[in-house]
Amino acid sequence: MQDIFDQLHEECGVFGIYNINHAANLTYLGLHSLQHRGQEGCGIVCNDHGEMSRMKGQGLVTEVFSASQLEKMKGNCAIGHVRYSTTGGNVIENVQPFLFHHHTGEFALAHNGNLVNSNELRLYLENKGSIFQSTSDSEILAHLMKKNADSENRIVNIIDALNMLEGAFAFVILTKDKLYACRDKYGFRPLVIGKKDDGYVVSSETCGLDIVGATYIRDLEPGEVVCFSQDGMKSYQYSQFKHYKMCAMEYIYFSRPDSNLEGLNCHTFRRISGKILAQESPVDADIVIGVPDSSLSAAMGYADESKIPYEMGLIKNKYVGRTFIQPSQELRERGVLMKLSPIQSVVSGKRIVLIDDSLVRGTTSKRIVRMLKEAGAKEVHLRIASPQIISPCFYGVDMSTYDELMSACMSLDEMQKELDVESLKFLSIEGLYKAASRKELCTACFTNVYPTNTYNSMKNTNKKS
Ligand code: SF4
Repeated sequence: MQDIFDQLHEECGVFGIYNINHAANLTYLGLHSLQHRGQEGCGIVCNDHGEMSRMKGQGLVTEVFSASQLEKMKGNCAIGHVRYSTTGGNVIENVQPFLFHHHTGEFALAHNGNLVNSNELRLYLENKGSIFQSTSDSEILAHLMKKNADSENRIVNIIDALNMLEGAFAFVILTKDKLYACRDKYGFRPLVIGKKDDGYVVSSETCGLDIVGATYIRDLEPGEVVCFSQDGMKSYQYSQFKHYKMCAMEYIYFSRPDSNLEGLNCHTFRRISGKILAQESPVDADIVIGVPDSSLSAAMGYADESKIPYEMGLIKNKYVGRTFIQPSQELRERGVLMKLSPIQSVVSGKRIVLIDDSLVRGTTSKRIVRMLKEAGAKEVHLRIASPQIISPCFYGVDMSTYDELMSACMSLDEMQKELDVESLKFLSIEGLYKAASRKELCTACFTNVYPTNTYNSMKNTNKKS
């Protein structure tokens, strides 16, 4: 259920424009298309012949920027960011892009993901005299880049800095004459490159390219930095260690259905996962319904395979404001009530297969099941189009402790009872790999096998011994 009231949130989305007129306006459009990746804050930095201007604020893209303000942001290069706060908290100082003033020139950067060694790096830098403006770990890269300020060669500084970072990141960096895009050596977070006119576009997802009319060129490789300059586009592989560990949740839930990640369309992935779920966990029922929006593709796949009619049993109220977009449990739950309504004439008296893309805390699913039963559903069979989430994520997704994960705390029977459903089944991990046609993914939250060293991240996870 990928929307502003859902259980799971990703940290951020990033966007960049190099050498295209009206860069700020295009970045606004790009950020709008990436809004699902973060709703708490957003910002744009624009470069007009070496003069940087920045606008940022808390709230949605449409709330923070006005046409007249964008008009004032001149220049043909820009970067932008949408934020959901996990590390660092929801304060204006943490809204990106960050803009830095340095004797070697101003530069701005924006980041998506989460570093697992941020505490270690922060301590190292503070001991060397760095003073941080924010609690966001994104600022760490800037300090690392400038620790050898004598060096004239910026790409060397960036490469040295990137090699010190461990974890998930996609960075865009804007200098007075260049745009850099960087992806971590595991490729956790997506980042794609597009071409428009004589310039380039960088976006967390391909939907950001589509909205500005850019043509997709390729995904950044894990461990790659791409530099866009007047000489065109130049690629550097900053690390020999290179693994393809795209976050499986990007396919399952985060990314927009129309986005393609490393060659696979998200709607297609979800539809196939629904089909596989139907093969693995069939049930006798009258209708299949999905939780809007991101579960609808999987529900279609389940219906296709099972030959049980697909129905629209839940509708979404699109016009709820952002008063309730807060990272607190109670407000999230209230948001669900405002956001979804059952269609009584569809669900009443029916045995329903309810498809949801993931089960995290379980509170959202519980309320939806109650809604359906109050509307007259005879039976609800819950089918989850992903495996059980048994472990926290340290790579930028807001599930950081074991005790907030229903599957880590309860047996299948206990969950079924707690959710008040007639049956409960999950997609198998093999089913997930099959839907993606690859095993090279991060599936740590399903398997407890982390691709990286987790440093001290495990300390505060409330792991039961
Ligand atoms: S642990 Fe789960 S949510 Fe986190 S990056 Fe890996 S697959 Fe994605």
